[in-house]
Amino acid sequence: MKREKILVVGGGAGGLSSALSLQSKGFQVEILEQNETIGGKLNCDLMDGYTFDTGPSILTLPGVLEELFRRSGADLQDYLELKNLDPQWRCFFHDGFHFDFRNGEEQMIEEVSRIAPEDVDGFVKLMKASKRHYQISQDNFFFRDYGDVFDVIKSGNAKSLEAMKLVVDIDPLKFYSELVEKHIRNPHLKQALEHLPQYIGSSPFLSPAILSCLIYIQFNRGCWYPMGGMNQISKALAKRFEELGGIIHLGQKVSRVQTDTTSVRGFETEDRKLWTADEYVVNMDANCFNGLVGLPVQADEKLACSGVTVFLGLKKRVKDLAHHNFFFSRSHRDEFRDIYDRKLPHQDPTVYVCVPSLSDPSVAPKDRENVFLLIHSPIDTGSTDWDSYLPHYVDLVKKKLAGMGFDATAHDIEVEFSRSPRDIGKKWSTYKGNIYGQASHGRLAGAFKQKNQSHHFRNLQFAGGTVNPGAGVPMSIMSGMIAGANLTKKREEYQGVIL
Ligand SMILES: Cc1cc2nc3c(=O)[nH]c(=O)nc-3n(C[C@H](O)[C@H](O)[C@H](O)COP(=O)(O)OP(=O)(O)OC[C@H]3O[C@@H](n4cnc5c(N)ncnc54)[C@H](O)[C@@H]3O)c2cc1C
Repeated sequence: MKREKILVVGGGAGGLSSALSLQSKGFQVEILEQNETIGGKLNCDLMDGYTFDTGPSILTLPGVLEELFRRSGADLQDYLELKNLDPQWRCFFHDGFHFDFRNGEEQMIEEVSRIAPEDVDGFVKLMKASKRHYQISQDNFFFRDYGDVFDVIKSGNAKSLEAMKLVVDIDPLKFYSELVEKHIRNPHLKQALEHLPQYIGSSPFLSPAILSCLIYIQFNRGCWYPMGGMNQISKALAKRFEELGGIIHLGQKVSRVQTDTTSVRGFETEDRKLWTADEYVVNMDANCFNGLVGLPVQADEKLACSGVTVFLGLKKRVKDLAHHNFFFSRSHRDEFRDIYDRKLPHQDPTVYVCVPSLSDPSVAPKDRENVFLLIHSPIDTGSTDWDSYLPHYVDLVKKKLAGMGFDATAHDIEVEFSRSPRDIGKKWSTYKGNIYGQASHGRLAGAFKQKNQSHHFRNLQFAGGTVNPGAGVPMSIMSGMIAGANLTKKREEYQGVIL
C-alpha cells in the first residue's frame, strides 16, 4: 500500500520533531530546509577549532526528547550524552554580590539560606506555588493544542467545576513578578528568579503567574548540556529520522505557497519546483508563513524579544565563571521597558555568558576557551540601524562585563564574530528577527499561543517555537509532537506522559 506523504517546511527543532514523530508512525516524510545545515537555530558555527553553538545553550526538560526517541523505537542515550550541570547559573550583580542557582530544590534552599536567610520560608512557599503551576501545565497544557481558556474547558479534559478550579488555580489575576515579589525580598534573588521567563523571551512583569512552573522545572528537573554542544540535539534528531527512512533536502527555500480556499496544494521553492504531499507541516516562523499566503501577521506588541549574540575564542582560560553566567542589569524594570515598550537596546543590559568549554573540552582547541554572549534585545522594528550599531553595542557589552569582573579582552581574543537581531532574522527567516515567537504576555492570554492546527487550511499543521506550546527547545520539540498527534487525529496520545 502506498504510504501517505508528509512535507515538512523547515528543519529546526520543531520541524525535525514533527518529521521524526510522523516517520515513526509509518508516514513517508520529507523536510525542506533553506539553509545548508539542519537544525535551524539549534545549530553550530565551526571556526579555527572552535564549535560555537549558534543559539540555544541551556537544555531543560530533556524528558520531551526522551519521549520522542522512545516512541521512535530508540533510546536517547544512544544518540546523546547529557550532563546535568551544578551550579546551574552563576549570577553577578553590579555591587559585587554573586550567588549560584544550584541543582535540586534542597541545594537551592541551602544557597538561599546562605545569601538571604530572611527569604528561606518565602522561597519554600514559592517552590510550592511553582510546583502547583507545573502540575497544572503538565495536566492541561503540555502536549495540548489549546488556543484559549475556552478550548481548555471545551476539551472535556477538565470538566465544569474542575475547569473553574483550574482557571482559579492558574492565578489568572497575577503576573509572574507579583508571585515572586509576594515571597522574596532580597533584590538580587528576586531579579535572578524574575529572569526565568527570559527563557522564552518574555518579561516577568507582563507574563502570567503560571509561568512560575519554570522555577520548578529549573530546580527540580535540571539544566542539561549535551556533550559536543546543543547542536548535537539536531544531529541526533536528523540521524534517527534518516535511519527510519526520512528524507532531508537542504538548500531548498520555499518562496511561494499554492493554496485553494481550504487547503494547501503545494510549496514552491526558489527554483520554481513545486513540492506536493498529502499533508503539510510548517516549521517556518508562523508570521512569515502568514505573510507568504496573505494572512495577517502579529503586531509588534505581541512578539517576544530578539537578541545580540557574540562568539569569542579565548587564548587564556577563564577563572571564577561557571558554564552559565548572568551579569545582571542595574534595573530589570528599565531593561524590560526598553526591550518590550520602547524597542531600544538597553544601555546596561543583562549579559548571559556561556562557557561550554568548562564542561566539554571538545568545543575549543586545547587550553582555549569557547565563550558565547547573549544580550536580549528588541525585535528589529527598524528603529535601530543594527548594521552600523552592532560593533558599538558589542563594545558597550564588553566594557560592562569588564567592569563586573570578566574582561574578555584580557583573555586574548583570537576568534570573534557577532550577530544582531537583523542578522538572526536573515539567517533563519524569523519575523522581525524575533527569537522566541509570540511573547507570553497577558495575565491569562500569556498562557496561550497560536494553535498547531491551521485555522485556514485543513491539511496544514504548524510546528515550532512560534506556535503552541511556545518557544525554547523542549517546547519546540513538543510542538512537533503535537502537530504529529493532530495530523493522525490522536490528540490525546501523550496524555499522562510525566516529564
Ligand atoms: C541566540 C538564541 C539563544 C537561545 N537560547 C535558548 C536556550 O538556551 N534554550 C532553549 O531551550 N531555547 C533557546 N533558544 C530558542 C530556541 O532556539 C528556539 O525556540 C527553537 O530552536 C525554535 O525551533 P523552531 O523549529 O521553532 O525554529 P527554527 O530553529 O528557526 O527552525 C525553523 C527552520 O525553518 C527554516 N525556514 C524558514 N523559512 C524557510 C523557507 N521559506 N523555506 C525553507 N526553510 C525555511 C529555517 O531556516 C529554520 O531552519 C534560543 C534561540 C536563540 C536564537
